[in-house]
Amino acid sequence: MGGINTTVVEGLREALRGPVITPPDPGYDEARSVYNAMIDRRPAAIARCVDVADVRAVLSCARDSGAEFAVRGGGHSGPGLCLVDDGLVLDLSAMRGVRVDPGAMTAQVAGGAQLGDLDHAAHTFGLGVPTGIISMTGVGGLTLGGGHGYLTRKYGLTIDSLQSADVVLADGTFVTASADEHPDLFWALRGGGGNFGVVTSFTFRLHPVDTVGVAVTVWPIDRTPQVLRWYREFLPAAPHDLYGFFTVFTIPPGPPFPEPIHGQKMCGVVWCHTGDSAGDRLDQALTAVNDPAPPAFHFTTPLPYPGLQGLFDTLIPEGYQWYWRGDFFDAISDAAIEVHHEYGENLPTGLSLMHLYPVDGAAHQVDADDTAWAYRDAVWSGVIAGVDPDPANAELIRQWSVAYWSDLHPHSMGGSYVNFLGEAEGTDRVRATYGRHYDRLAAVKRTYDPYNFFHANQNIPPAPD
Ligand code: FAD
Repeated sequence: MGGINTTVVEGLREALRGPVITPPDPGYDEARSVYNAMIDRRPAAIARCVDVADVRAVLSCARDSGAEFAVRGGGHSGPGLCLVDDGLVLDLSAMRGVRVDPGAMTAQVAGGAQLGDLDHAAHTFGLGVPTGIISMTGVGGLTLGGGHGYLTRKYGLTIDSLQSADVVLADGTFVTASADEHPDLFWALRGGGGNFGVVTSFTFRLHPVDTVGVAVTVWPIDRTPQVLRWYREFLPAAPHDLYGFFTVFTIPPGPPFPEPIHGQKMCGVVWCHTGDSAGDRLDQALTAVNDPAPPAFHFTTPLPYPGLQGLFDTLIPEGYQWYWRGDFFDAISDAAIEVHHEYGENLPTGLSLMHLYPVDGAAHQVDADDTAWAYRDAVWSGVIAGVDPDPANAELIRQWSVAYWSDLHPHSMGGSYVNFLGEAEGTDRVRATYGRHYDRLAAVKRTYDPYNFFHANQNIPPAPD
């Protein structure tokens, strides 16, 4: 195993247009910080690429030096997969350009872009792509894992809108993967994570989305059983224009929530309605929210789609401690409801939460074998996240998340969305994520990355010859 020394760094600096940041340099601590402040890794060098030539030069250096190596997109992975101690980080965070072609209804998105970059560029044309619910998340990691969010019931997973990807492979070869070119690689990129190469550009098909109807409905936490029994029937039967993720959480101390409920533990649903007259139709769709129990608060508003995408950005900014675990669910059993109720009553900190994100609707209209995403029959992708600004609470939130997950896991489908796998969950959990697609992914890995060069990820080692 080689490493990064002064000569290697000087060589990189000569080869790159972007900066190479090392421990003595100003800005090093900022460059190595990621969304989850629980992650504290110290790379030997962070090479901030500005174009494909830079990416190829960094890969060449990593191969020649034998250094540990990672690729950074938006820096939002829970386990901090985009950083390595003492190694070389290929940082895409300066490659955030988005080019929208409104006639063709496509967007070309650079590999380090954030969701907000894409939303901003597409919204001016009344267009968008289904992505995630926090606008600072990287398009790169989210898309390669699958990607779900407010538009998923209407337009599918993020990967269902992916038309092609430009990829630099481990040996430096540049390829475009699509249904027609390198279809095996294109299949694997749609859910298989960062295992196959550095994606320098994604091309997405865009969809009409403009102002959406948004609502938040909350009930006291002791109503969790009634609300979940209602929600598990109501949401899957609702038209695909309506999306609503279920949560247990603590009411934050600010608008739109009225002061008397600040700090109270609640269960709730965050709703989004797309389509014409989205606000009016949302009100009609949600007359049923009184059925399980009177809400403690029900708030509706129309919002431009990017406004909804950024709704929670300030509530959970970068720099907090995060510990998360996930699983897929095809049903919410009575036993699972008891678990949600128990752990919702015992949220360890004011920002800790559990979300059940719908992955049905249009996401179910894609054949199970068309992409690497292995859970087309899942109805919800669940995440349990212990969150707190104070590092002193790291162990508290870790224990709560693991205990909650351990009690809930027997009521799941057995595997998690790859982007909700936590730290060091192990090979069996990665296998469970991909199920019967695992062997096919390992075979594609053997073709495109036979020496497992890209392994700072939820790793799929190459299949043996
Ligand atoms: P990074 O940490 O930079 O990268 C994660 C992995 O992807 C690494 O292995 C990295 O090497 C690889 N990678 C990133 N970019 C590239 C690239 N261009 N080429 C090759 N490999 C690359 N997910 C959802 O689907 N929906 C949600 O609503 C959602 N909400 C979230 C909210 C929060 C607050 C957070 C922290 C995460 C959320 N996620 C959600 C999960 C998110 O999809 C993952 O954390 C994802 O890995 C983030 O991607 P990133 O590029 O920001 O991460």
